[in-house]
Amino acid sequence: MFKALLLEKDDAGFRASVTELDEARLPAADVLVAPEYSTLNYKDGLALTNRAPVVRNWPMVPGIDGAGTVLESSHPDWKPGDRFVHNGWGVGETHWGCLAQRARLKGDWLVRLPAAFTPRQAMAIGTAGYTAMLCVLALERHGLHPGSGEVLVTGASGGVGSVAIALLARLGHRVVAASGKPQSAGYLQTLGAAAVIDRAELAAAGKPLQKERWAAVVDAVGSHTLANALAQTRYGGVVAACGLAQGMDLPSSVAPFILRGVTLAGVDSVMAPRALREQAWARLASDLDPALLETMVEEVALDGAVAAAGRLMAGQVQGRVVVRI
Ligand code: NDP
Repeated sequence: MFKALLLEKDDAGFRASVTELDEARLPAADVLVAPEYSTLNYKDGLALTNRAPVVRNWPMVPGIDGAGTVLESSHPDWKPGDRFVHNGWGVGETHWGCLAQRARLKGDWLVRLPAAFTPRQAMAIGTAGYTAMLCVLALERHGLHPGSGEVLVTGASGGVGSVAIALLARLGHRVVAASGKPQSAGYLQTLGAAAVIDRAELAAAGKPLQKERWAAVVDAVGSHTLANALAQTRYGGVVAACGLAQGMDLPSSVAPFILRGVTLAGVDSVMAPRALREQAWARLASDLDPALLETMVEEVALDGAVAAAGRLMAGQVQGRVVVRI
């Protein structure tokens, strides 16, 4: 038997509770793992509060991310005792996930835990931080280098935003954070933001081309914010789009692309190929200051995850929530 957070939906409605489950109920996959830590990403928050149809099969053990130890494996790359990190692949949506003391996962999904990180640190990074790294890699692939100019990070006090600021500042960029939380300004400056702007400046409909400011942008927000960020990006600049905290829409025009040669780079973490994941985790190990990471983290126990998810959805969380399994 093992302890897990179980999400159920039936005629009696939606329920989320920590319960004991039999290992025989775990879905088929070639590696049995013991997650030591998991985390709450935005999508986990939606699942745990039943706010959006993230969960596709019921009942579901949520938990998109996990880090811990391999217990059993019939996959050639993994043996008992190996340390792993897992992000995405529909886990916690269609396949039972890591908010549990046991999970069966595919060996092809797992990445070796970098020696630089404990399972707790890897989950402090989580999908949010790994996505931030994917955004930085996308900006670099399109030519961003220290000295290129100011880099805007939207959704700044969230998980993606926090890690993106820490990474970009450490790499030598001048980072401007856009946030809706005035009380987070000190936190964002500690992470490395050179300046903080009110996200309201970007939140409403704007002109298709505006004064050129950003050499690059990491956008976790979408909608008018992304449209304005594109309209303010300098000639030849690049914008990495990964999120939709403001909205799924993109009320923009082709003007930034055809008149300023701006590149819009899409970033997906869920189905990213293993080689790219390994590159992202290796870069996180070398480029992220573990001391700064600690300033972003709030830790909860498994039975505190649902309440923390409620706070995440209410926009009351700064940085990242790790869940001790
Ligand atoms: P968080 O909830 O941690 O952070 C989101 C942040 O966005 C908030 O902290 C807030 O920052 C800002 N925000 C919230 N609501 C609004 C709004 N209405 N308008 C403008 N800004 C808002 O989420 P994550 O950082 O984990 O994820 C950010 C986004 O990225 C989500 O949409 C998520 O689904 C997406 N995502 C996508 C991935 C991918 O693979 N493409 C992977 C991971 C996440 P502040 O208060 O500082 O303004």
